[in-house]
Amino acid sequence: MSSIIAPASLSKPVDKRSSVARLLDAVFTTRCAGCDAIGAPLCHTCRFILLEASRIGPSAGTPDGVITAVSMTGSARRVIHGLKYRNRRAVVEHVAGMLAARVLAAGIAPHSDVTAVTWAPTHPDRRRSRGYDQAELLARGVARCLGLPVVRLLERVDNGAPQTGRSRDERLGGPAFTGRRSRHRAVLLIDDVVTTGSTLAAARGALRTAGVSNIVSAAVAATPARAHRSGTRSIPTAA
Ligand SMILES: [Zn+2]
Repeated sequence: MSSIIAPASLSKPVDKRSSVARLLDAVFTTRCAGCDAIGAPLCHTCRFILLEASRIGPSAGTPDGVITAVSMTGSARRVIHGLKYRNRRAVVEHVAGMLAARVLAAGIAPHSDVTAVTWAPTHPDRRRSRGYDQAELLARGVARCLGLPVVRLLERVDNGAPQTGRSRDERLGGPAFTGRRSRHRAVLLIDDVVTTGSTLAAARGALRTAGVSNIVSAAVAATPARAHRSGTRSIPTAA
């Protein structure tokens, strides 16, 4: 077997363990999604930091009418990136519980204000490559916390590349969805991260077309306003 030697300029800090040892470590060692400490999927310190952040709520940047738990910064950012990009699915229950608590704190009453939970599906390419849809996992977790059924009401129209990797103008245009009819007329719509609000706005439009008359939108994290302040629009909660 030939070995590949990376140029010195590209090499990372030297890990002297064999590639097998590193692979076994990656497969069998549980690390915190927030700080990478060995142990639990989310260590006590990161849990505490997240809980405190969700008590305060996002500092700014949440589009009007969207309930959010935390700002997409620091530990919260690392945990949500872990869920989205590094297969850290074990944090879902914790993060979903945090968002469910914010929904209740916003005065939303399960079974009367909303009768079901749904989600804005991620891009089909993303779902295929990850093997799961983090927004769906979050919706299922929130639904369990609130004692509500989870229903798939939206399909993402595959109109090209996923959101990341597209230009800001393309992202502001947002993805497109089609809605499915169901007996539910009042639903809680879940996404993982809200930036301009365009994804949730498109999802709400499709739900309304499918006959949902009351939509409460919630996302775990709001991207801080500075990067998209000029693109932020005011979005009503429901039709
Ligand atoms: Zn941690």
